[in-house]
Amino acid sequence: VVRIEDLHKSFGQLEVVKGVDMDVHRGEVVVIFGRSGSGKSTVLRCVNFIEDPTSGSIEVAGIRLEGGHRTKRKREQIRQLRVHVGMVFQQFNLFPNMTVLDNVTCAPRCAGKGSDAEITKRGQELLERVGLADKAGEHPIRLSGGQQQRVAIARALAMEPDVMLFDEPTSALDPELTGEVLSVMKTLSTEMHMTMMVVTHEMGFAREVADRMAFFHEGRILEEGPPQQLISSPAHPETRAFLDAVL
Ligand code: ATP
Ligand code: MG
Repeated sequence: VVRIEDLHKSFGQLEVVKGVDMDVHRGEVVVIFGRSGSGKSTVLRCVNFIEDPTSGSIEVAGIRLEGGHRTKRKREQIRQLRVHVGMVFQQFNLFPNMTVLDNVTCAPRCAGKGSDAEITKRGQELLERVGLADKAGEHPIRLSGGQQQRVAIARALAMEPDVMLFDEPTSALDPELTGEVLSVMKTLSTEMHMTMMVVTHEMGFAREVADRMAFFHEGRILEEGPPQQLISSPAHPETRAFLDAVL
């Protein structure tokens, strides 16, 4: 579903992504971890062109785009590519003046994805899936952080993406609220077979849900492999040191 090839990204003189290759297959869950500043968020943001790659290419759902400058044609292709990508951030960024249900349904409604009644019904189903059916009429401010993040997940799912990107979805949450968000993410994988790229340091989640883990170090993937292998017997001392610090 996703293919990242020789991705490079610089901010001015500073090269923060230095040649990343990664394939994510349908239904796969890949956990990305590594030190602060190692380029995890930047790679994720390049996948849906929130950042433009300096060079290399990104392919999502058969739409392949090169890095470099935006042309008019490319802008249109970026728009098409984004239809296939859902993203959830550390900060939930819900629309505060809309109800929970409107937050979830506004994108499909703007995109004309079905009749009003269909969109509302589907929005309700998504809220049910994230365990918030009873909060449809509330405003985000009245929800806990964990509930808000679950709304953000439902909102991203509403466009029926082929891949979901999560950038540290639980790191702004109090520890007692992270479990409910991780458990929703787990059901996306087990019940919906959702393809996911997840930046997280929740090693319990990684061990349980990830098919593969990738350790980022200074803008590159230093090593990757199945969670068991990476967590219990990492090949590189940097990976081991990092794991020792987070476990
Ligand atoms: P963290 O764990 O702290 O979220 P990260 O691995 O996600 O770190 P990135 O956010 O990808 O790291 O940042 C990588 C590097 O790129 C950092 O040195 C950061 O300061 C720099 N950087 C990121 N975005 C920008 C930007 N818009 N302009 C300039 N530098 C940036
Ligand atoms: Mg980050």
